[in-house]
Amino acid sequence: MEISFHGKRALVTGAGKGIGREIAKKLVECGAETFALSRTQADLDSLKSEVPSMNIVQADLQDWDGSRKIVEQLGPIDLLVNNAAVGRGSPFLEVKKEELDFILDVNLKAVVNVSQVCVKGMIERGQGGAIVNMSSIASKMALKNHTSYGASKAALDMLTKVMCLELGPHKIRVNSLNPTVVWTKMGKSGWSDPAKSGPMLARTPLNKFAELEDVVNATLFLLSDKSAMVNGTAMLLEGGLCCS
Ligand code: NAP
Repeated sequence: MEISFHGKRALVTGAGKGIGREIAKKLVECGAETFALSRTQADLDSLKSEVPSMNIVQADLQDWDGSRKIVEQLGPIDLLVNNAAVGRGSPFLEVKKEELDFILDVNLKAVVNVSQVCVKGMIERGQGGAIVNMSSIASKMALKNHTSYGASKAALDMLTKVMCLELGPHKIRVNSLNPTVVWTKMGKSGWSDPAKSGPMLARTPLNKFAELEDVVNATLFLLSDKSAMVNGTAMLLEGGLCCS
């Protein structure tokens, strides 16, 4: 299946590392003028040297007003991947307000903020658009030490549905993608211990975690016209884990 995004403008948040970086690179490969937004300038500089046609944008999404101004300056966006997120795992009884604020600011509130800016432009231009919210299997399964992160991703799934409902009439499709563990910086920090990953793998019918390429392929599908009737879904990318 060939996917082309020629003539489209795409924004990927959290594109300095991991999943977002690979999605941004693939979007460029598929012809989209791509904006890679992230927090650490050094990551963006290395991405730019790897892919010179990439547009790099430094912003801290926890800063609502500052990042909103930056996104407003990017011009029209047709394809948006709300990928940036942070994880910090504490047992339920030890979760502090600061942790909840930090995680909800980036994983949930920033998605509303960035999407509002991009969607306003999409509606004005009347050409529609596609949005993928990067969620997680942690929105569907209760995992220990995932109070803040799991709640942020479950909220993101419902945000996706409400956006789908309100934006569909403007030909804007909104879906979330819910991967199991992926071996990025975030994936390794949470799941490198075999005592933790072993039982999860054992419960997964395919007996493996996701590769970066799996997440990139599914995201590109959801952004493309190949998924023209897929809207408001939370697409599981977990090798069947939720069937167990
Ligand atoms: P990652 O390797 O930690 O990369 C996250 C990226 O987001 C980094 O470039 C980070 O920049 C950026 N970011 C974080 N906070 C930001 C902020 N306030 N402003 C701007 N950029 C910010 O994570 P990943 O594993 O690629 O995860 C990507 C997405 O997939 C996330 O939504 C995550 O929840 C989801 N996911 C991951 C897994 C997994 O196992 N890896 C599984 C399911 C879902 P800095 O490093 O500079 O902060």
